[in-house]
Amino acid sequence: MAQPAPADNMITIIGAGIAGLSLGWKLASGGHHVTILERGKIASGASGAAGAYLEPRPGKGKLRALEWASHKLWPEFAKKLTLEAGINIGFHNNGATYIAYPEGLEKLEKAAEFHRSSNWQVNWMDGESLFEFEPRLSKEVAAAYHLPQVCQVDGRLVCKALALAFDKCGGELIEGFEVSDVENTDGKLVLRSKNHAPLSTDKLIITAGHGANKIAGLPDDIPVSRPVRGVMLELAQPKAQALIRHPIKRPDGVILPLPNGNLLVGSSHEEGEEAIIAPVQIVSSMLESAARAVPGIADLPLVETRVGVRALVGDGLLRLGQSSKMRNVYYSLSHAGAGFLRAPLIAEELAVVIVDPDAECRFIAPFYRN
Ligand SMILES: Cc1cc2nc3c(=O)[nH]c(=O)nc-3n(C[C@H](O)[C@H](O)[C@H](O)COP(=O)(O)OP(=O)(O)OC[C@H]3O[C@@H](n4cnc5c(N)ncnc54)[C@H](O)[C@@H]3O)c2cc1C
Repeated sequence: MAQPAPADNMITIIGAGIAGLSLGWKLASGGHHVTILERGKIASGASGAAGAYLEPRPGKGKLRALEWASHKLWPEFAKKLTLEAGINIGFHNNGATYIAYPEGLEKLEKAAEFHRSSNWQVNWMDGESLFEFEPRLSKEVAAAYHLPQVCQVDGRLVCKALALAFDKCGGELIEGFEVSDVENTDGKLVLRSKNHAPLSTDKLIITAGHGANKIAGLPDDIPVSRPVRGVMLELAQPKAQALIRHPIKRPDGVILPLPNGNLLVGSSHEEGEEAIIAPVQIVSSMLESAARAVPGIADLPLVETRVGVRALVGDGLLRLGQSSKMRNVYYSLSHAGAGFLRAPLIAEELAVVIVDPDAECRFIAPFYRN
């Protein structure tokens, strides 16, 4: 059986989103010498825009099993991270409430049934029970169901906490380091950047989301992703007058209370779009449709427009693995719309195979190529 890599082996991770930071923390806390390179600031990709629901999708299969396993790890992961970093990451288990207008009632009933048949606890609400549960919902809302098992975190705070915890374990984070190309020279991997001196490393892990496509010199067995842009709007509301108590899932988006008291309204799914801009029509139609669910939203000032690009490879399935063409190059890509949910489990199992390629990893194995 292979021995774990010596602690003085240098591991470099490209990308300080949720995938890179959670893996970096896991490796650094195991005594490994880890550097994370980030072209901007931490969470400047998809991770900084996410609403960060921790909600396995309904249905069956290996990805659902992975998501449930990660969902189960979250409370302990959140507790440990909060302690280690010393900041609140907004973890809560207020569940999520799916709502429908009269024209969407049949669809909502089917969706509730799908959740039930996937072993979710489903609490159906209509009439008085619904408005007792969420008094500020529009009277147009015909029915809803609540999934109490859904949890949520503040994605930006999670990334901030991971960076702090990583630093405490001796990890090095370099922001403003955009890796432009990678070369394998005499068994060492050399990473080049236009604004930094080259850096050499023993192992390289690519967690650069959609940015990975632009790194030159990578072997062609590293998956190439397509962009799916998402826009989220942060709206200010006085903490004492919160409009919504639980995360709401509308037919065309979400409304999420944030730990700072504000609301996050989102999100768009724009296939093929990677420019970090929020088209005015998208912003106004998101606001209009959120106000149909919760009329008070129309009066809330816009604090920030968050834009992120989800990276999806092919069928959108998770892609993890080790290149067979360039030694010691690993990747963790195509986290699509569930990178936060899956992070604790992926970080835990991927860290094991990166250190010991013969190790068995139960949940990531179906998605791991080498
Ligand atoms: C609007 C929206 C809502 C979402 N909601 C949820 C949700 O509710 N629950 C959930 O689990 N997930 C959600 N997601 C998905 C989640 O955000 C992603 O799956 C996750 O953030 C992907 O993380 P990542 O670390 O792989 O990529 P990213 O967060 O994109 O991180 C990649 C990082 O790599 C850096 N980088 C890129 N190229 C280079 C380079 N050449 N050199 C150095 N650094 C580089 C980037 O700057 C970036 O910081 C949502 C996403 C969006 C956009």
